[in-house]
Amino acid sequence: MATVLVSEFMDGSALAFLENRLSVDYAPNLFDDQQTLMQRVSAVDALIVRNRTPVTRELLNHAGQLKVIGRLGVGLDNIDLDAAKQANIQVLPATGANAVAVAEYVMSALLHLRRPMTSGFQAMVGGDWPREQFIGGEISGKTLGLIGFGQIAQIVAKRAAAFGMRIAYFDPYIDASEHDSVATAVSSLDELLALSDSVSIHVPLTEDTHRLMNSQRLALMKSGAILINTSRGGIVDERALIHHIQTGHLGGAALDVFEHEPLDELKGARFDGIDALILTPHIAGVTHESNRRVSQVTAENVLRALGYE
Ligand code: NAD
Repeated sequence: MATVLVSEFMDGSALAFLENRLSVDYAPNLFDDQQTLMQRVSAVDALIVRNRTPVTRELLNHAGQLKVIGRLGVGLDNIDLDAAKQANIQVLPATGANAVAVAEYVMSALLHLRRPMTSGFQAMVGGDWPREQFIGGEISGKTLGLIGFGQIAQIVAKRAAAFGMRIAYFDPYIDASEHDSVATAVSSLDELLALSDSVSIHVPLTEDTHRLMNSQRLALMKSGAILINTSRGGIVDERALIHHIQTGHLGGAALDVFEHEPLDELKGARFDGIDALILTPHIAGVTHESNRRVSQVTAENVLRALGYE
């Protein structure tokens, strides 16, 4: 019987589905422990990871019989793809399975940053009636700029259009004529930043996109604009972003992903004095529903790659 090591959390029903067919080593907290990971990976045919397991060349050197890596999600930046290719190991993302979850996160962040409905809670339960504090802005009629126009951005665009937003995107790698879309393509990132009231990032982390949103690019955004990053940490210069919010140039931000996760070195001071900032621990793509879908798609991908029908 083939064996699979699962080094991060996976939905119970998909796990049971795998256990009925394969021998499963389920170790959802192993991502932190490279030494044990190297020992355990040496005996398996498949490895299933999320984004926190660094699948390095060194790890793959220990994986003598590994045939497939199932990725519980879509970003592949934690996996050394060249090393996997050289070792003839397939890498299979759960393409599209968490796209709706990310898109709903973006809509929620957009609405909440413009109209922060939870901020008056303390005042309300204290007997105040702070109506002026609740006057926010509308997203209808405003322009949403999407950096990257792949699976997730296209779903965001449809939802944002339903809210009456105008949508523009910059993605030099797709053919705009193939997209019968609610969104308009623009020919440069700088142009997109200059015309958008809100910007949401949906590109993979690559050498090209690392620090794509550096201080100079953030400076090109409209005064009062907001930035949402659910793609990958490292794409936005976090310190520069905080600076642009603190100076009042930007109206706020939602960050689900960070250059260093968890935020060990960011505790406290860096974010002091900022209220229009949503921080979440890389969960934009994780809902109860998407967790089930992603886990099931990954289980099926891995089984197929191992020759199970
Ligand atoms: P996708 O591959 O469908 O789309 C990415 C798009 O980015 C492509 O159309 C590509 O042409 C474009 N692109 C690449 N480089 C670009 C550049 N320099 N400028 C402009 N466009 C560029 O991917 P997707 O499914 O939409 O996911 C996007 C990213 O979101 C993933 O790579 C992943 O890192 C991240 N993600 C995060 C979560 C989360 O929980 N926070 C969940 C899912 C995905």
